[in-house]
Amino acid sequence: MLDAAMVREFTDLLSEDGVITDEVGLRSYECDGLTGFRQVPALVVLPRDADEVAGAVKLCARYGMPFVARGAGTGLSGGAMPVADGVVISLQRLRRILEIDVENRRAVLEPGVFNLDISTAARPHRLYYAPDPSSQQVCTIGGNVAENSGGAHCLKYGFTTNHVLGADFVTAEGDVVRLGDAAPDSPGYDLLGAVVGSEGTLGVVTSTTVRLVRLPEEVRTLLVGFESTDQAGAATSAIISAGIVPAAIEMMDALAIEAAEAAVHCDYPAGAGAVLVIELDGALIEVEQEYADVERLCAENGAFEQRVATDPAERALIWKGRKSAFAAVGRISPDYIVQDGVIPRTALPEVLTAIAEISASSGVRVANVFHAGDGNLHPLVLFDDAVEGAGEAAEKVSGAILDLCIQHGGSITGEHGVGMDKAAYMPRMYTDEDLDTMQLVRCAFDPTNISNPGKIFPTPRLCGEIPGRRKAAHPLQQAGIAEVF
Ligand SMILES: Cc1cc2nc3c(=O)[nH]c(=O)nc-3n(C[C@H](O)[C@H](O)[C@H](O)COP(=O)(O)OP(=O)(O)OC[C@H]3O[C@@H](n4cnc5c(N)ncnc54)[C@H](O)[C@@H]3O)c2cc1C
Repeated sequence: MLDAAMVREFTDLLSEDGVITDEVGLRSYECDGLTGFRQVPALVVLPRDADEVAGAVKLCARYGMPFVARGAGTGLSGGAMPVADGVVISLQRLRRILEIDVENRRAVLEPGVFNLDISTAARPHRLYYAPDPSSQQVCTIGGNVAENSGGAHCLKYGFTTNHVLGADFVTAEGDVVRLGDAAPDSPGYDLLGAVVGSEGTLGVVTSTTVRLVRLPEEVRTLLVGFESTDQAGAATSAIISAGIVPAAIEMMDALAIEAAEAAVHCDYPAGAGAVLVIELDGALIEVEQEYADVERLCAENGAFEQRVATDPAERALIWKGRKSAFAAVGRISPDYIVQDGVIPRTALPEVLTAIAEISASSGVRVANVFHAGDGNLHPLVLFDDAVEGAGEAAEKVSGAILDLCIQHGGSITGEHGVGMDKAAYMPRMYTDEDLDTMQLVRCAFDPTNISNPGKIFPTPRLCGEIPGRRKAAHPLQQAGIAEVF
């Protein structure tokens, strides 16, 4: 339990304005974008640099206080939700772009830098940072690394993990280590790979070196209207099967289009049961050929309207409809759950039909917005919390959709992470042995389980315990490969 003497130690380290202890101040950190999960922390600290982060973590380690790193708090799985009696380490003051290395096409960033600011800084050099979560104006690179965030353009360019070359990292014991290297493929275990996507459970990232990509010569953005999601799904599969990898293929169904129209008047094709937003980029000659092929394949699969943006304003309007879709759903429903699951792209028609059936039989409306190219679904499950039992019904539908994803060989999360929200679903995807092995990795970084405990794993276990329900040692221990300490 935090006491006055401990608060004084944090204040000595970070000064008065680097420590929040008042009730109102603490409350503003009680949740992330998944507002249904809340916990007021015991303390919030606002370090100014990596040394102060390491100092704060060391204090937490000395007193056995759990801590959670926090970027902008836009996460949608409860990852940055504080731990009871724990400390929030906010990275919002570490916002410097330390280097734009044009020759090597790299940027070195403090963790609180907003995603979009990287591309803005690189643009004068005709470079940009490719992973583009829809929240990119407000989410931080530290949060992106922790969640291995994706975005519309990750179909062609890959997720965050494909763009992170190195990181400075504070372990849960407060040691500062360098992971990865400016040069790709450093020898030894891929510890950087373990940290990317670890949701703050292994320690705190204090700087990141990311790859920058050359701006393409040509970008062409198409808006294509279909009567049904089946047709749009078939067109998506046809495009990819033809060997074309667009920068993005995004799908929205009729309910999602209705919401986007109400919110941002994006002028999507009237009466469409689904739209695809398809973006092609690259060398002009290549884009022209791909554009002709994509137009033909969409027409063959039932497209009734195809529009290509003729100027940046039209392109921005097409994307505005898609990128504001989550928030736009607030126009048609007072409450909603943003779900995030993955299926093989070829299963799209079948899974969308099954989601429609679940929706019809439960009476719970579901709007679909998703990265169609890589099968990353974002069903938005609508409800009105003022109606008794509506929240529970929505949760049930949401869980049934995740089960569908697993049944079709997919995953319970594509990009939003497990956090608090989906920890209970992990055993549906993994065996006890799988989960125990992951715990051993965690224990290697965080032996006392203080770095964002209670996230990802369904049953928090301490590293000193024999993991799992099994009484005998884990097979890796028996083989002398791993140790529980
Ligand atoms: C409208 C909207 C649209 C979104 N669209 C997308 C999308 O298209 N793609 C996508 O992937 N996500 C999307 N998200 C989810 C969210 O924006 C991402 O997960 C983002 O990466 C979170 O960044 P953040 O800075 O807000 O992190 P936070 O929410 O503060 O934290 C997220 C997790 O990262 C950990 N963390 C944060 N900083 C660090 C650090 N420096 N070191 C170690 N751990 C850290 C936290 O402990 C927590 O577990 C969306 C969210 C919203 C609200």
